[in-house]
Amino acid sequence: MKPLNYCNECNKLLNGRSDKRFCDEGCRNNHNNRLNSVAYKNVKNINKILRINRNVLNSLLPNDDKTTVSQKTLLILGFNFEYYTHTYQTKAGNLYYFVYEYGYLKLENNRVMIVKNKSISQ
Ligand SMILES: [Zn+2]
Repeated sequence: MKPLNYCNECNKLLNGRSDKRFCDEGCRNNHNNRLNSVAYKNVKNINKILRINRNVLNSLLPNDDKTTVSQKTLLILGFNFEYYTHTYQTKAGNLYYFVYEYGYLKLENNRVMIVKNKSISQ
């Protein structure tokens, strides 16, 4: 039994050749137009920045500990401080910026403390 094949655009079940990706030219065109749309490109660009940001934090924090580095270190590695996924404010009032599971807290003297998920002190 061969696996079922669905249209990449409208998800309708496809019959026939297993390498077929769309039900018709309309769906193929809609799909390609959507991929090339400005909105989609913006999403792709922002995802790329977030992915780089996450990689930078990950590279500086290989295990689950915290570490403190200078903002400059992050910038040199390609970190973009304007993009993050969410923030977390502790009861003490510290505002952490998160990029997925990695977070950072801006400290004095242009230093940054990097944490992973639950290693935030309250
Ligand atoms: Zn279709």
